[in-house]
Amino acid sequence: MKTLTYKFAQRVLSTANPATVAASNRARELRQAGIDVVVFSSGDPDFATPRHVIEAARSALAAGDTHYTASRGLPELRAAITGKLQRDNGLTYDPARELVVTPSAKHAIYASIMALVEPGDEGILLDPCWTSYQSCIQLAGGTVRRVELDSGDNYLVTRDKLTAAASDRARILVLNSPSNPTGRVLARPELEAIADFAQSQDLIVIADEIYEKIVYDGHQHLSLASLPGMWERTLTVNGFSKAYAMTGWRLGYVAGPAEVINQILKVHEHSVNCAAVFVQRGGIAALEGPQDDVATMVAEYAQRRQLLIDGVSALPGVTCGQPEGAFYVFADVRGTGLSSQQFADRAIDEARVALTPGPGFGPCGEGYVRFSYAVNSSRIREGISRLRTMLERHAQ
Ligand code: PLP
Repeated sequence: MKTLTYKFAQRVLSTANPATVAASNRARELRQAGIDVVVFSSGDPDFATPRHVIEAARSALAAGDTHYTASRGLPELRAAITGKLQRDNGLTYDPARELVVTPSAKHAIYASIMALVEPGDEGILLDPCWTSYQSCIQLAGGTVRRVELDSGDNYLVTRDKLTAAASDRARILVLNSPSNPTGRVLARPELEAIADFAQSQDLIVIADEIYEKIVYDGHQHLSLASLPGMWERTLTVNGFSKAYAMTGWRLGYVAGPAEVINQILKVHEHSVNCAAVFVQRGGIAALEGPQDDVATMVAEYAQRRQLLIDGVSALPGVTCGQPEGAFYVFADVRGTGLSSQQFADRAIDEARVALTPGPGFGPCGEGYVRFSYAVNSSRIREGISRLRTMLERHAQ
């Protein structure tokens, strides 16, 4: 008899659990133990999914609509999505060939990266950026190159910064605007620089547009694929989690040239096959029904954003910029003399406030912590007040 030994693939051993999930899990454990925690670490909107979306899924279930769908997604949902991409983003996709509906935007990103990156390849990321891009590239056997961005110029993307990350081994660039965690909404000249770079380096760009509806102060989301020469080298990823408060439904999609989509489809078909059918019915209702809930949520986020910016910038040793979109404030805590991790550890241990340490979003995140304002205003006030007490105590 041989003794049991667990042997794991290097690709998982070298991959960490998401920093965002780790912070939220700690908060959940404390809450289960009856401790009141202000949770600024979650990217989950605290709003309810719109009623008509729930009703559509409920009716589908009641009608026995509980089986597999076409792996690309229900034709009606694909038509609703390509209609939305045309209307909102000026992008034309054939619903029969150029789109896959996935259980979550995360799965769309994962399947896209699995289809495009192989061992030895590199993926270029704008640093700081959402935690899972790096891990998906690593799980595919690739390595990451980083375009270093800086809060000093509001995370401006320039051709020079992109060129500094160029490499013959790079196959993809991942872009997220509006950005989690910085809140930057990339302007046309920045997207033009990315387009020029991608064309000169023959890169495919994965454009994660999941926060496109959540923008402030007149900032406008622009889809990279709409720029000249970019449709054919861009995968446009989006989902329902953020705009429609549908995180638990797990519904997203990726649109792009048929040749690329056909390869992504293999990863999708061998891992999940299709998104749940009644969830897809909910997705149709979300896109085709009234959009007032989206506007109401964005108006509320705008108020919370101001409250959080005012509160965070009044904390001793802490500063922050003006996020232009999404629902995060990426605060600079270097003036407190604490590292990101030390700040977040003290916040949860002493103030019972859950934050995500910046390095979870890449090395450029060191010295920062991320606050999510997917929590209501009274909790924002409470969290800020607890952090002030904590920081004042340490200053004494
Ligand atoms: N992309 C970004 C930038 C995100 O912040 C998130 C979730 O936090 C996702 C994708 C994942 O969205 P989904 O819930 O559709 O998987």
